[in-house]
Amino acid sequence: MSNSIPVKRIAIFGSTGSIGTQALEVIEQNSDKFSVEVLTCNNNESLLIEQALKFQPNIVVVTNTGKYAVVKEALKNTDTKVFAGEKALEEVASLDIYDLMLAAIVGYAGLKPTLNAVKAGKTVALANKETLVVAGDIVMRTAYEKRVPIIPVDSEHSAIFQCLVGEVRNPIEKIILTASGGPFFGKKPNFLVNVKRDHALQHPNWNMGAKISVDSATLMNKGLEMIEARWLFNLQPDQIEVLVHQQSIIHSMVQFQDGSIKAQMGLPDMRLPIQYALAFPKRIPNDFPRTDFKKIRNLTFEEPDVRTFRNLALAMEALNKGGNLPCILNAANEIAVYAFLRNRIGFLDMTDVIEETMQRVSFLQNPTLDDYLESDAEARLFASDLIKL
Ligand code: NAD
Ligand code: MG
Repeated sequence: MSNSIPVKRIAIFGSTGSIGTQALEVIEQNSDKFSVEVLTCNNNESLLIEQALKFQPNIVVVTNTGKYAVVKEALKNTDTKVFAGEKALEEVASLDIYDLMLAAIVGYAGLKPTLNAVKAGKTVALANKETLVVAGDIVMRTAYEKRVPIIPVDSEHSAIFQCLVGEVRNPIEKIILTASGGPFFGKKPNFLVNVKRDHALQHPNWNMGAKISVDSATLMNKGLEMIEARWLFNLQPDQIEVLVHQQSIIHSMVQFQDGSIKAQMGLPDMRLPIQYALAFPKRIPNDFPRTDFKKIRNLTFEEPDVRTFRNLALAMEALNKGGNLPCILNAANEIAVYAFLRNRIGFLDMTDVIEETMQRVSFLQNPTLDDYLESDAEARLFASDLIKL
């Protein structure tokens, strides 16, 4: 179609995850527009190898160094270079071999590679919300200085981003982040106390990685998204509202100073915000299922129950106080979620671990990057100790 447009070279950090694999589907359907230059994973070497043989990237990185030999061997007859380890992950992010990084690693592990991409002047399509929760001020300031676009992939933030196209000079009055409510919407603590891993991994509207699925069940995900939105769109905490909308058709809304509200809608399908971020500013055609309002009929809206889902209240506290508190919240949450996934603690225990860690790790109002790294380590240690990991 558009032969004159050069192929965009994509680096997918976290290519074996839910976002990473869906991004590769989008790229496969649009091989005239995108090429795959970098693929990375933590542990799933067999899927990484399969992806590398199919998409023939320039470089693959496996963070777990124990998997290097098997990946190297499997790709020995190809032109793909193989690296392993955390340092390699960070260094490859700085290389001038790609145009856009899809930041699709889960958790704090995504921070350094993503920050390196920004420093190297690379456009970032950001799924890895924890990066902005931990060090949003530093990441966004660096992006501003380097004139690097950060294009959200998270569906809510993609919705807001899309609503803001053409509104550069019009201030936002507030944004309304919609939440599906997760698998335990309407439940009370006497139910939640018995919830187990497999139950929490069943999300009604989205099929996602394990960590974000648990975060959606506790509503921590929405709290992380409030903090993510604060940095992406340069908002004050009181400009960010959360509204439960169980159908996940309205992906979020922006209210302007005249009271007018814009919403972005569609079926819940992450390929849509992924594709939008990769192709921005263009929209490209696809054959994904279309929304049929006659079938949906009702769109409902409710207040989130922050008394039951206290993780959301804790995230709001971190958002309001700022400093290193969101970083501490995030670290404690990562530890708590992984302990819950290994059946080491209960569903409601996660909240106690996060709350106590937030109270105990020293608060810093204006942290440097090193302060964030130290707060993260300190919070992890404290939370692990509480759980006796
Ligand atoms: P996932 O668990 O399915 O995949 C995570 C990816 O990161 C994998 O490729 C894994 O190999 C890699 N990884 C994990 N730990 C790592 C480490 N320590 N070092 C290097 N790489 C590591 O997760 P996901 O659901 O695809 O989510 C990825 C990110 O996107 C998360 O931040 C999540 O919040 C965000 N997100 C996901 C969805 C979704 O629908 N899945 C929606 C919105 C936002
Ligand atoms: Mg989201």
